[in-house]
Amino acid sequence: MKIGVLALQGAFIEHIRILQQLGVSSPLPIRLPAQFKGLDGLIIPGGESSTLLKLMHSFEMFNVLRELILKGFPIWGTCAGLIVMGKTSSNNDEATLAVMDIAVKRNAFGRQIDSFETDLDIPILGASPFKAVFIRAPAITKAGAKVEVLAKLSDGTIIAARQEKMLATAFHPELSNDFRVHQYFISEFITK
Ligand code: GLN
Repeated sequence: MKIGVLALQGAFIEHIRILQQLGVSSPLPIRLPAQFKGLDGLIIPGGESSTLLKLMHSFEMFNVLRELILKGFPIWGTCAGLIVMGKTSSNNDEATLAVMDIAVKRNAFGRQIDSFETDLDIPILGASPFKAVFIRAPAITKAGAKVEVLAKLSDGTIIAARQEKMLATAFHPELSNDFRVHQYFISEFITK
């Protein structure tokens, strides 16, 4: 099983460390489009979505990755990664990959100072709550018919969803000691 983590910018090292702890052999930091060859799935980490999108163009990854995802390549976006995958996003000058049928609001909970941690009920992970870290996080404001909502905040805001082989979380599972979202991605999205 070969899982890559987009390593252009943001919290990619944390994802790689967790994948290693879960026994994924040599998770790969991805910086070149040629590295997509032979990959079984990719994580787009948190960071700054506008910067990530610009870098994806500079490194000639944007179109290659978009085509791959549209053909069913498994992908998981966390925070900025979710924004990159969404169909539309508010306050964003950069066009997104627009592969997942969700509308996204950037910085939906305010600025850095409004970052927070909360216990989430995520039924697909089992009964015990998941301590989720939100850092200038986005929210999903609209989910299309093919999108399955996986978690909401107590006020109803959607913060985790999947569509076919695409997983999106507004929070940072790579910053907690709970590896259940990573396990879920490996077992439900990666076929080999
Ligand atoms: N606010 C960032 C953005 O708009 C996302 C923050 C994060 O990934 N922690 O891209």
